[in-house]
Amino acid sequence: MSKSLQAIRGMNDILPEQTPLWRYFEGTVARLLDNYGYKQIRMPIVEFTELFKRSIGEVTDIVEKEMYTFEDRNGDSLTLRPEGTAACVRAVLEHGITGGGQVQKLWYIGPMFRHERPQKGRYRQFHQIGLEVFNLDGPDIDAELIIMTWRLWGELGIRDAVKLELNSLGTSESRGRYREALVEYLSAHHDKLDEDSQRRLKTNPLRVLDTKNADTQAVLVDAPKMADYLDDESRAHFEGLKARLDAVGIPYVLNPKLVRGLDYYSKTVFEWVTDKLGAQGTVCAGGRYDGLVEQMGGKPTPGVGFAMGIERLVLMLETLEQIPQEISRQVDVYLCAFGEEAELAGLALAERVRNELPNLRLQVNAGAGSFKSQFKKADKSGALYALILGDDEMAQQVVGFKPLRGQGEQQSIAWDALAAHLATCVVQG
Ligand code: ATP
Ligand code: MG
Repeated sequence: MSKSLQAIRGMNDILPEQTPLWRYFEGTVARLLDNYGYKQIRMPIVEFTELFKRSIGEVTDIVEKEMYTFEDRNGDSLTLRPEGTAACVRAVLEHGITGGGQVQKLWYIGPMFRHERPQKGRYRQFHQIGLEVFNLDGPDIDAELIIMTWRLWGELGIRDAVKLELNSLGTSESRGRYREALVEYLSAHHDKLDEDSQRRLKTNPLRVLDTKNADTQAVLVDAPKMADYLDDESRAHFEGLKARLDAVGIPYVLNPKLVRGLDYYSKTVFEWVTDKLGAQGTVCAGGRYDGLVEQMGGKPTPGVGFAMGIERLVLMLETLEQIPQEISRQVDVYLCAFGEEAELAGLALAERVRNELPNLRLQVNAGAGSFKSQFKKADKSGALYALILGDDEMAQQVVGFKPLRGQGEQQSIAWDALAAHLATCVVQG
């Protein structure tokens, strides 16, 4: 195939053999979010470039080098969304649904785009489920977000493989004071910093804290700590969050170097990390962003949220072999019919059964075929039972009912009794 007809590097097809696991994951999250009272919002995938520059911040990796930006036919600069928070804030402001202190607990799902170096767990089109809460400023809601994800890891069977890292970045005032102290300290050690950190020192000094460079890390050992600069309000907020996590029994690790890539965070920041995926270890990350809505032209509106990477979590389910057996089977019953008359009767019978059992996964053989070939297809479909309509069955107005997995003789079931019989032997999801 010529290269120009292939998919773009880092943008993946999710093939039919993979989608059951994706749907299981997405369905589990959606149900959980429903149960906690969150409502879904859907935003466009493309926004004005300015939106991301303004919200994410000009001197972040995303805006500096990861965005897919292009001019449309009107000459407007547009960008494929690299994350969901910016568009979500825009949407709530545009529709006035956070006005007057209205609480909104929102979630979204969909593709995000970043021009990064593709590797395992890092792609150029990837998918997130994200969540944003507006107009609640206490640590109770920060705790709820974390408790909810903790429950999710439990339901998915991956709780033992993830670890919660926590930090507080304080208010923008206390962070400003900390930034000054950090810059002063790092400037005194300028020559020992790697090139990237030297650059960040000028543009976004807090990002130096999450450097991977060993020499810079050594310099950071004695650097000033954010915890010593926290204002009283942020300190109380952070204590309130920790008390709630303790009350529910959720373990966490304090990580003073956790600053997150985006400019807009304040107070709480957290990441769920794993050592099961190699270098791409963060599966869910978020925090509080009390200043963001105002920065985007709204009234002061507290906000907190997180986003999880679906590819990384699906990879974890695969790596840890936490794939529920029932999701791989997509057919309950497979109907084989031999001859034109049986085919017509089979179609009608299948529709009658579907009327009565709307959740039954009933597949009718298409493309005719010999007894042997239809049976092979029934078996390959993964169905638990085959239904058989041949000349004999037609004559007696019955259908052959044959278990395909495990023991059990073939039985004859009257057409009128078929739905009731299937209801007793197929567990319906
Ligand atoms: P990283 O440090 O891994 O680049 P990030 O801080 O840029 O992550 P966020 O913007 O916080 O990531 O996005 C939230 C989550 O989305 C991440 O924790 C991760 O699970 C997922 N994610 C981010 N970028 C990618 C990507 N390029 N490919 C796959 N998943 C991603
Ligand atoms: Mg990144």
